[in-house]
Amino acid sequence: MKVFYLFTALAVASLAWSANGQTCGTNPNVPNNDFGASSSYADPTNDCEIRVNVFIHLVGRSDGSNRPSSSHAYNIAYKLGTSFSPWKITIDYLGYDEINSDTYGLPNSLTLFNYTNLFSVNAHSNAIDIYVVPQGTTTFGAAAAAIPSKALVVPLDLAVNASGFPTEVTSHELGHCFNLFHTFHGTAEGGSTPELANGSNNTTAGDFIPDTPADPVNTIGACVNNCSYSPNWLQCNTTDANGHSYAADLTNIMSYGPINCLSHYTPHQAHRMRTALRNASVLAGVRTLASSAFDNNAITVDNVRVTSTPVFVSPGSHSVRLNTFGNLQSISWSANPSWIPIYTLGAQCDFTISSGQSLTLNVTATTSCGGPQSRSISFSVPYSYKVYPNTATNVLNVEFEKVEYEEGLPDEVALISERSQKIVRSVKVREAFRNKNLENQSKVVFDVKNLARGRYYLKVNSDHLRNSESSTTRILLVE
Ligand SMILES: [Zn+2]
Repeated sequence: MKVFYLFTALAVASLAWSANGQTCGTNPNVPNNDFGASSSYADPTNDCEIRVNVFIHLVGRSDGSNRPSSSHAYNIAYKLGTSFSPWKITIDYLGYDEINSDTYGLPNSLTLFNYTNLFSVNAHSNAIDIYVVPQGTTTFGAAAAAIPSKALVVPLDLAVNASGFPTEVTSHELGHCFNLFHTFHGTAEGGSTPELANGSNNTTAGDFIPDTPADPVNTIGACVNNCSYSPNWLQCNTTDANGHSYAADLTNIMSYGPINCLSHYTPHQAHRMRTALRNASVLAGVRTLASSAFDNNAITVDNVRVTSTPVFVSPGSHSVRLNTFGNLQSISWSANPSWIPIYTLGAQCDFTISSGQSLTLNVTATTSCGGPQSRSISFSVPYSYKVYPNTATNVLNVEFEKVEYEEGLPDEVALISERSQKIVRSVKVREAFRNKNLENQSKVVFDVKNLARGRYYLKVNSDHLRNSESSTTRILLVE
């Protein structure tokens, strides 16, 4: 198991990537080719998974000094994973290498005119090449090779913050690799025409993305207050050509908001990236289009994700749903035992389970993302139990049958005095099972010899099961 949270603290001069004139060096003056993204939109969160390989090159001087560490590489890769996973883009970190070179690792050795030379060093045909260079190595900041492309360079002091935590700067450059422009493209830099604040030309101007608001901010960290657009500087454009006020989003990863404000892409940005990953030839070698109809966590029971089987449910009616990738093309459900009726409508399957029953559902589905693919899921009701002896004198046993899984046990059994209505004995059963404190891992034994003789009742609670009702048993204690 890789541990991603071993961040190494760094001594860095500044958090702002505008320090020393550092910005994003990616050339924005390229034609817009959206590879078909604007002609049809698919919700990325419901689309097929795309896996992308990344390889990280740690660049230092010839003697190896100033070179970022392997834990930096892990942390940067991990951050990329969390930034892209909401959009069904999975980052697969292939590993890192070390490049010791005064050609690339000395202060100011990389300029906007020569930095792409770095991208031929140890390049991978099957991965995005990410070159992490020492602070001050580039004269511009971070940059992708092009829009789109399969390589980027980022100085360490931009890739991680002063506390050693990865920033979204590498995600920003990877956004360029995946065909995104800046949110202020055209409006506050070249490459297209200005986007109007009312969004009327938002598919043909600006960044060509309909759900990113027009953005006039091309100075990093400017025109912002607490991460919100705030044109409080003289040089901030407040209105567009029609006199309408801007409402820029300076938390968008493709904006020039302060680094610590950058947090997300929009659905249409994700759609554009995914379209490029599918269709741009420069990216064809680095990605895999997953051919699966659904993933391991595709099933919900009563709207709760199922992570393991069997699933313990209370006796009664329940609703199962298979959450597939892409569009459902065919689906079939079956039950075992088959005499338990199931009611199916597409991806949904309802059934009723009674005390003492167990049921296995099998589902097979084909979607626009893959298949046919099958999954089985088993259901049980909580373990039955017996209470003895009743009537009791010294001990009272609550014994569960055939216990295998903690989830089939109640949360608590409690003995309650009928006269005082107070709990006189109780055991947290699942916890006791977990800690191996049940007799034979199946029995709760109450010592009752010091309790007053008389009437009690035993209450069994299974609050962790939806719609469960507690059951009670009357107990008589005698001499
Ligand atoms: Zn950029």
